Amino acid sequence: MSSETGNDVVLKLTGVEAGYGRIRALNGIDLEVRRGQIVALLGANGAGKTTTLKTISGLVRASAGTIALDGNDITGMKANEIARLGVVHVPEGRHILRGLSVRENLELGAFTVRDAAVKRERMAEAFRLFPILKARQHQDGSLLSGGEQQMLAIGRALMHGPKVLLLDEPSMGLAPKLVLETLKIVKRLNRDEGTTILLVEQNARLALKLAHYGYVLEGGSIRMKNDAATLRQDASIVQAYLGD
Ligand code: ATP
Repeated sequence: MSSETGNDVVLKLTGVEAGYGRIRALNGIDLEVRRGQIVALLGANGAGKTTTLKTISGLVRASAGTIALDGNDITGMKANEIARLGVVHVPEGRHILRGLSVRENLELGAFTVRDAAVKRERMAEAFRLFPILKARQHQDGSLLSGGEQQMLAIGRALMHGPKVLLLDEPSMGLAPKLVLETLKIVKRLNRDEGTTILLVEQNARLALKLAHYGYVLEGGSIRMKNDAATLRQDASIVQAYLGD
């Protein structure tokens, strides 16, 4: 079925291997993201979560395996081509450009969009989702608080009109209250806009609360996968990855 029930696969990784020079970071990853879902990618530091996102978005080259978007092979394509196809990566650290206003930062996100009316509609949508960005639209983006910069980074990604959003640790470095707020926004984005999201998040317990499905990475391999609710109940996961 190709609706919001999430039965059709948007993104599919099969046997993906990747690394940095001689360092092998991914040892044959099989992973699926279904339309309309939030899929959480969990694991300890160095497990390969960021590398998985970078390999999907073409920033790191897959040395083996295939990556398919809506059934079409995108393995080996350039990062800008992959972005154009609707795979939009929000990397760790937000990367808001100093010297550009909030509005200009958002406009940058729409570099793949030619139609001015679509751009205007997406900007209005970003402002609806994040009223603070509208209020601060003429201010330098780098002057926003950490949480607001994260909203701007997500808003900028939405300007592309993503088919799949790759979110790398959106709560990184934020105060606990803002962590919760940011993850609520991720949930709303999925529920209200139907955005499909592959989410890397240090806070595994929270991530599994909002995700539909989860994968646990260890040493560059998938150790476990299951419905988020089932993973949350799994005593071994709780012990190994969720703390206390
Ligand atoms: P974290 O939660 O700490 O961000 P992660 O699960 O995202 O970790 P990756 O950043 O994907 O893990 O790293 C996977 C492996 O690849 C690690 O062994 C790491 O040291 C290595 N690695 C990552 N980036 C590079 C790089 N640019 N050059 C060399 N090795 C790297």
